[in-house]
Amino acid sequence: MSDIDIDKCRITHYPRKVLSQKAQPISEINDTIRDLADKMIDIMIERNGVGLAGPQAGVGLRIFVISLDGTRENAKIYINPEITPSGEIATTEEGCLSIPGLSAKIKRYKNCSVTAKDLSGNTFTEEADGLYARALQHEYDHLEGTMIKDRLSQVARISARKLLKQLEENAS
Ligand SMILES: [Zn+2]
Repeated sequence: MSDIDIDKCRITHYPRKVLSQKAQPISEINDTIRDLADKMIDIMIERNGVGLAGPQAGVGLRIFVISLDGTRENAKIYINPEITPSGEIATTEEGCLSIPGLSAKIKRYKNCSVTAKDLSGNTFTEEADGLYARALQHEYDHLEGTMIKDRLSQVARISARKLLKQLEENAS
């Protein structure tokens, strides 16, 4: 973990490999992790996002940040999070900072609980619904190497094909 260069952390876009890989647990919450969390909040706010996961900053570690109103004051950090979804399924339009231009209806559980560590190493648990539950499931997906492009309906997948191909070409 000591090899993270915070100054080099940037938003990553599909098809960067780090986005499709399972992120690794954080073994020690040290200054590097605190700097990383700060940097992730910077990137999220700068891009007008409500959440950002480690792989989206180019770091394959199990950490994400969420701020439902997009402000720094309300940004919350989740380290080694576990999510337990529950309730009904809802379909809502979602976007992702790592797939610019893609917006699609994604099925998620309406509720979930999250257990994670904060920057002091304390474990906390919260119950979530609505946008919060959706954001938690979206960011947790990133830690598993899953993105909204992997959760598209068949029809949406066909219409997203061109955009994804464009992003692949831009990267190469
Ligand atoms: Zn995303």
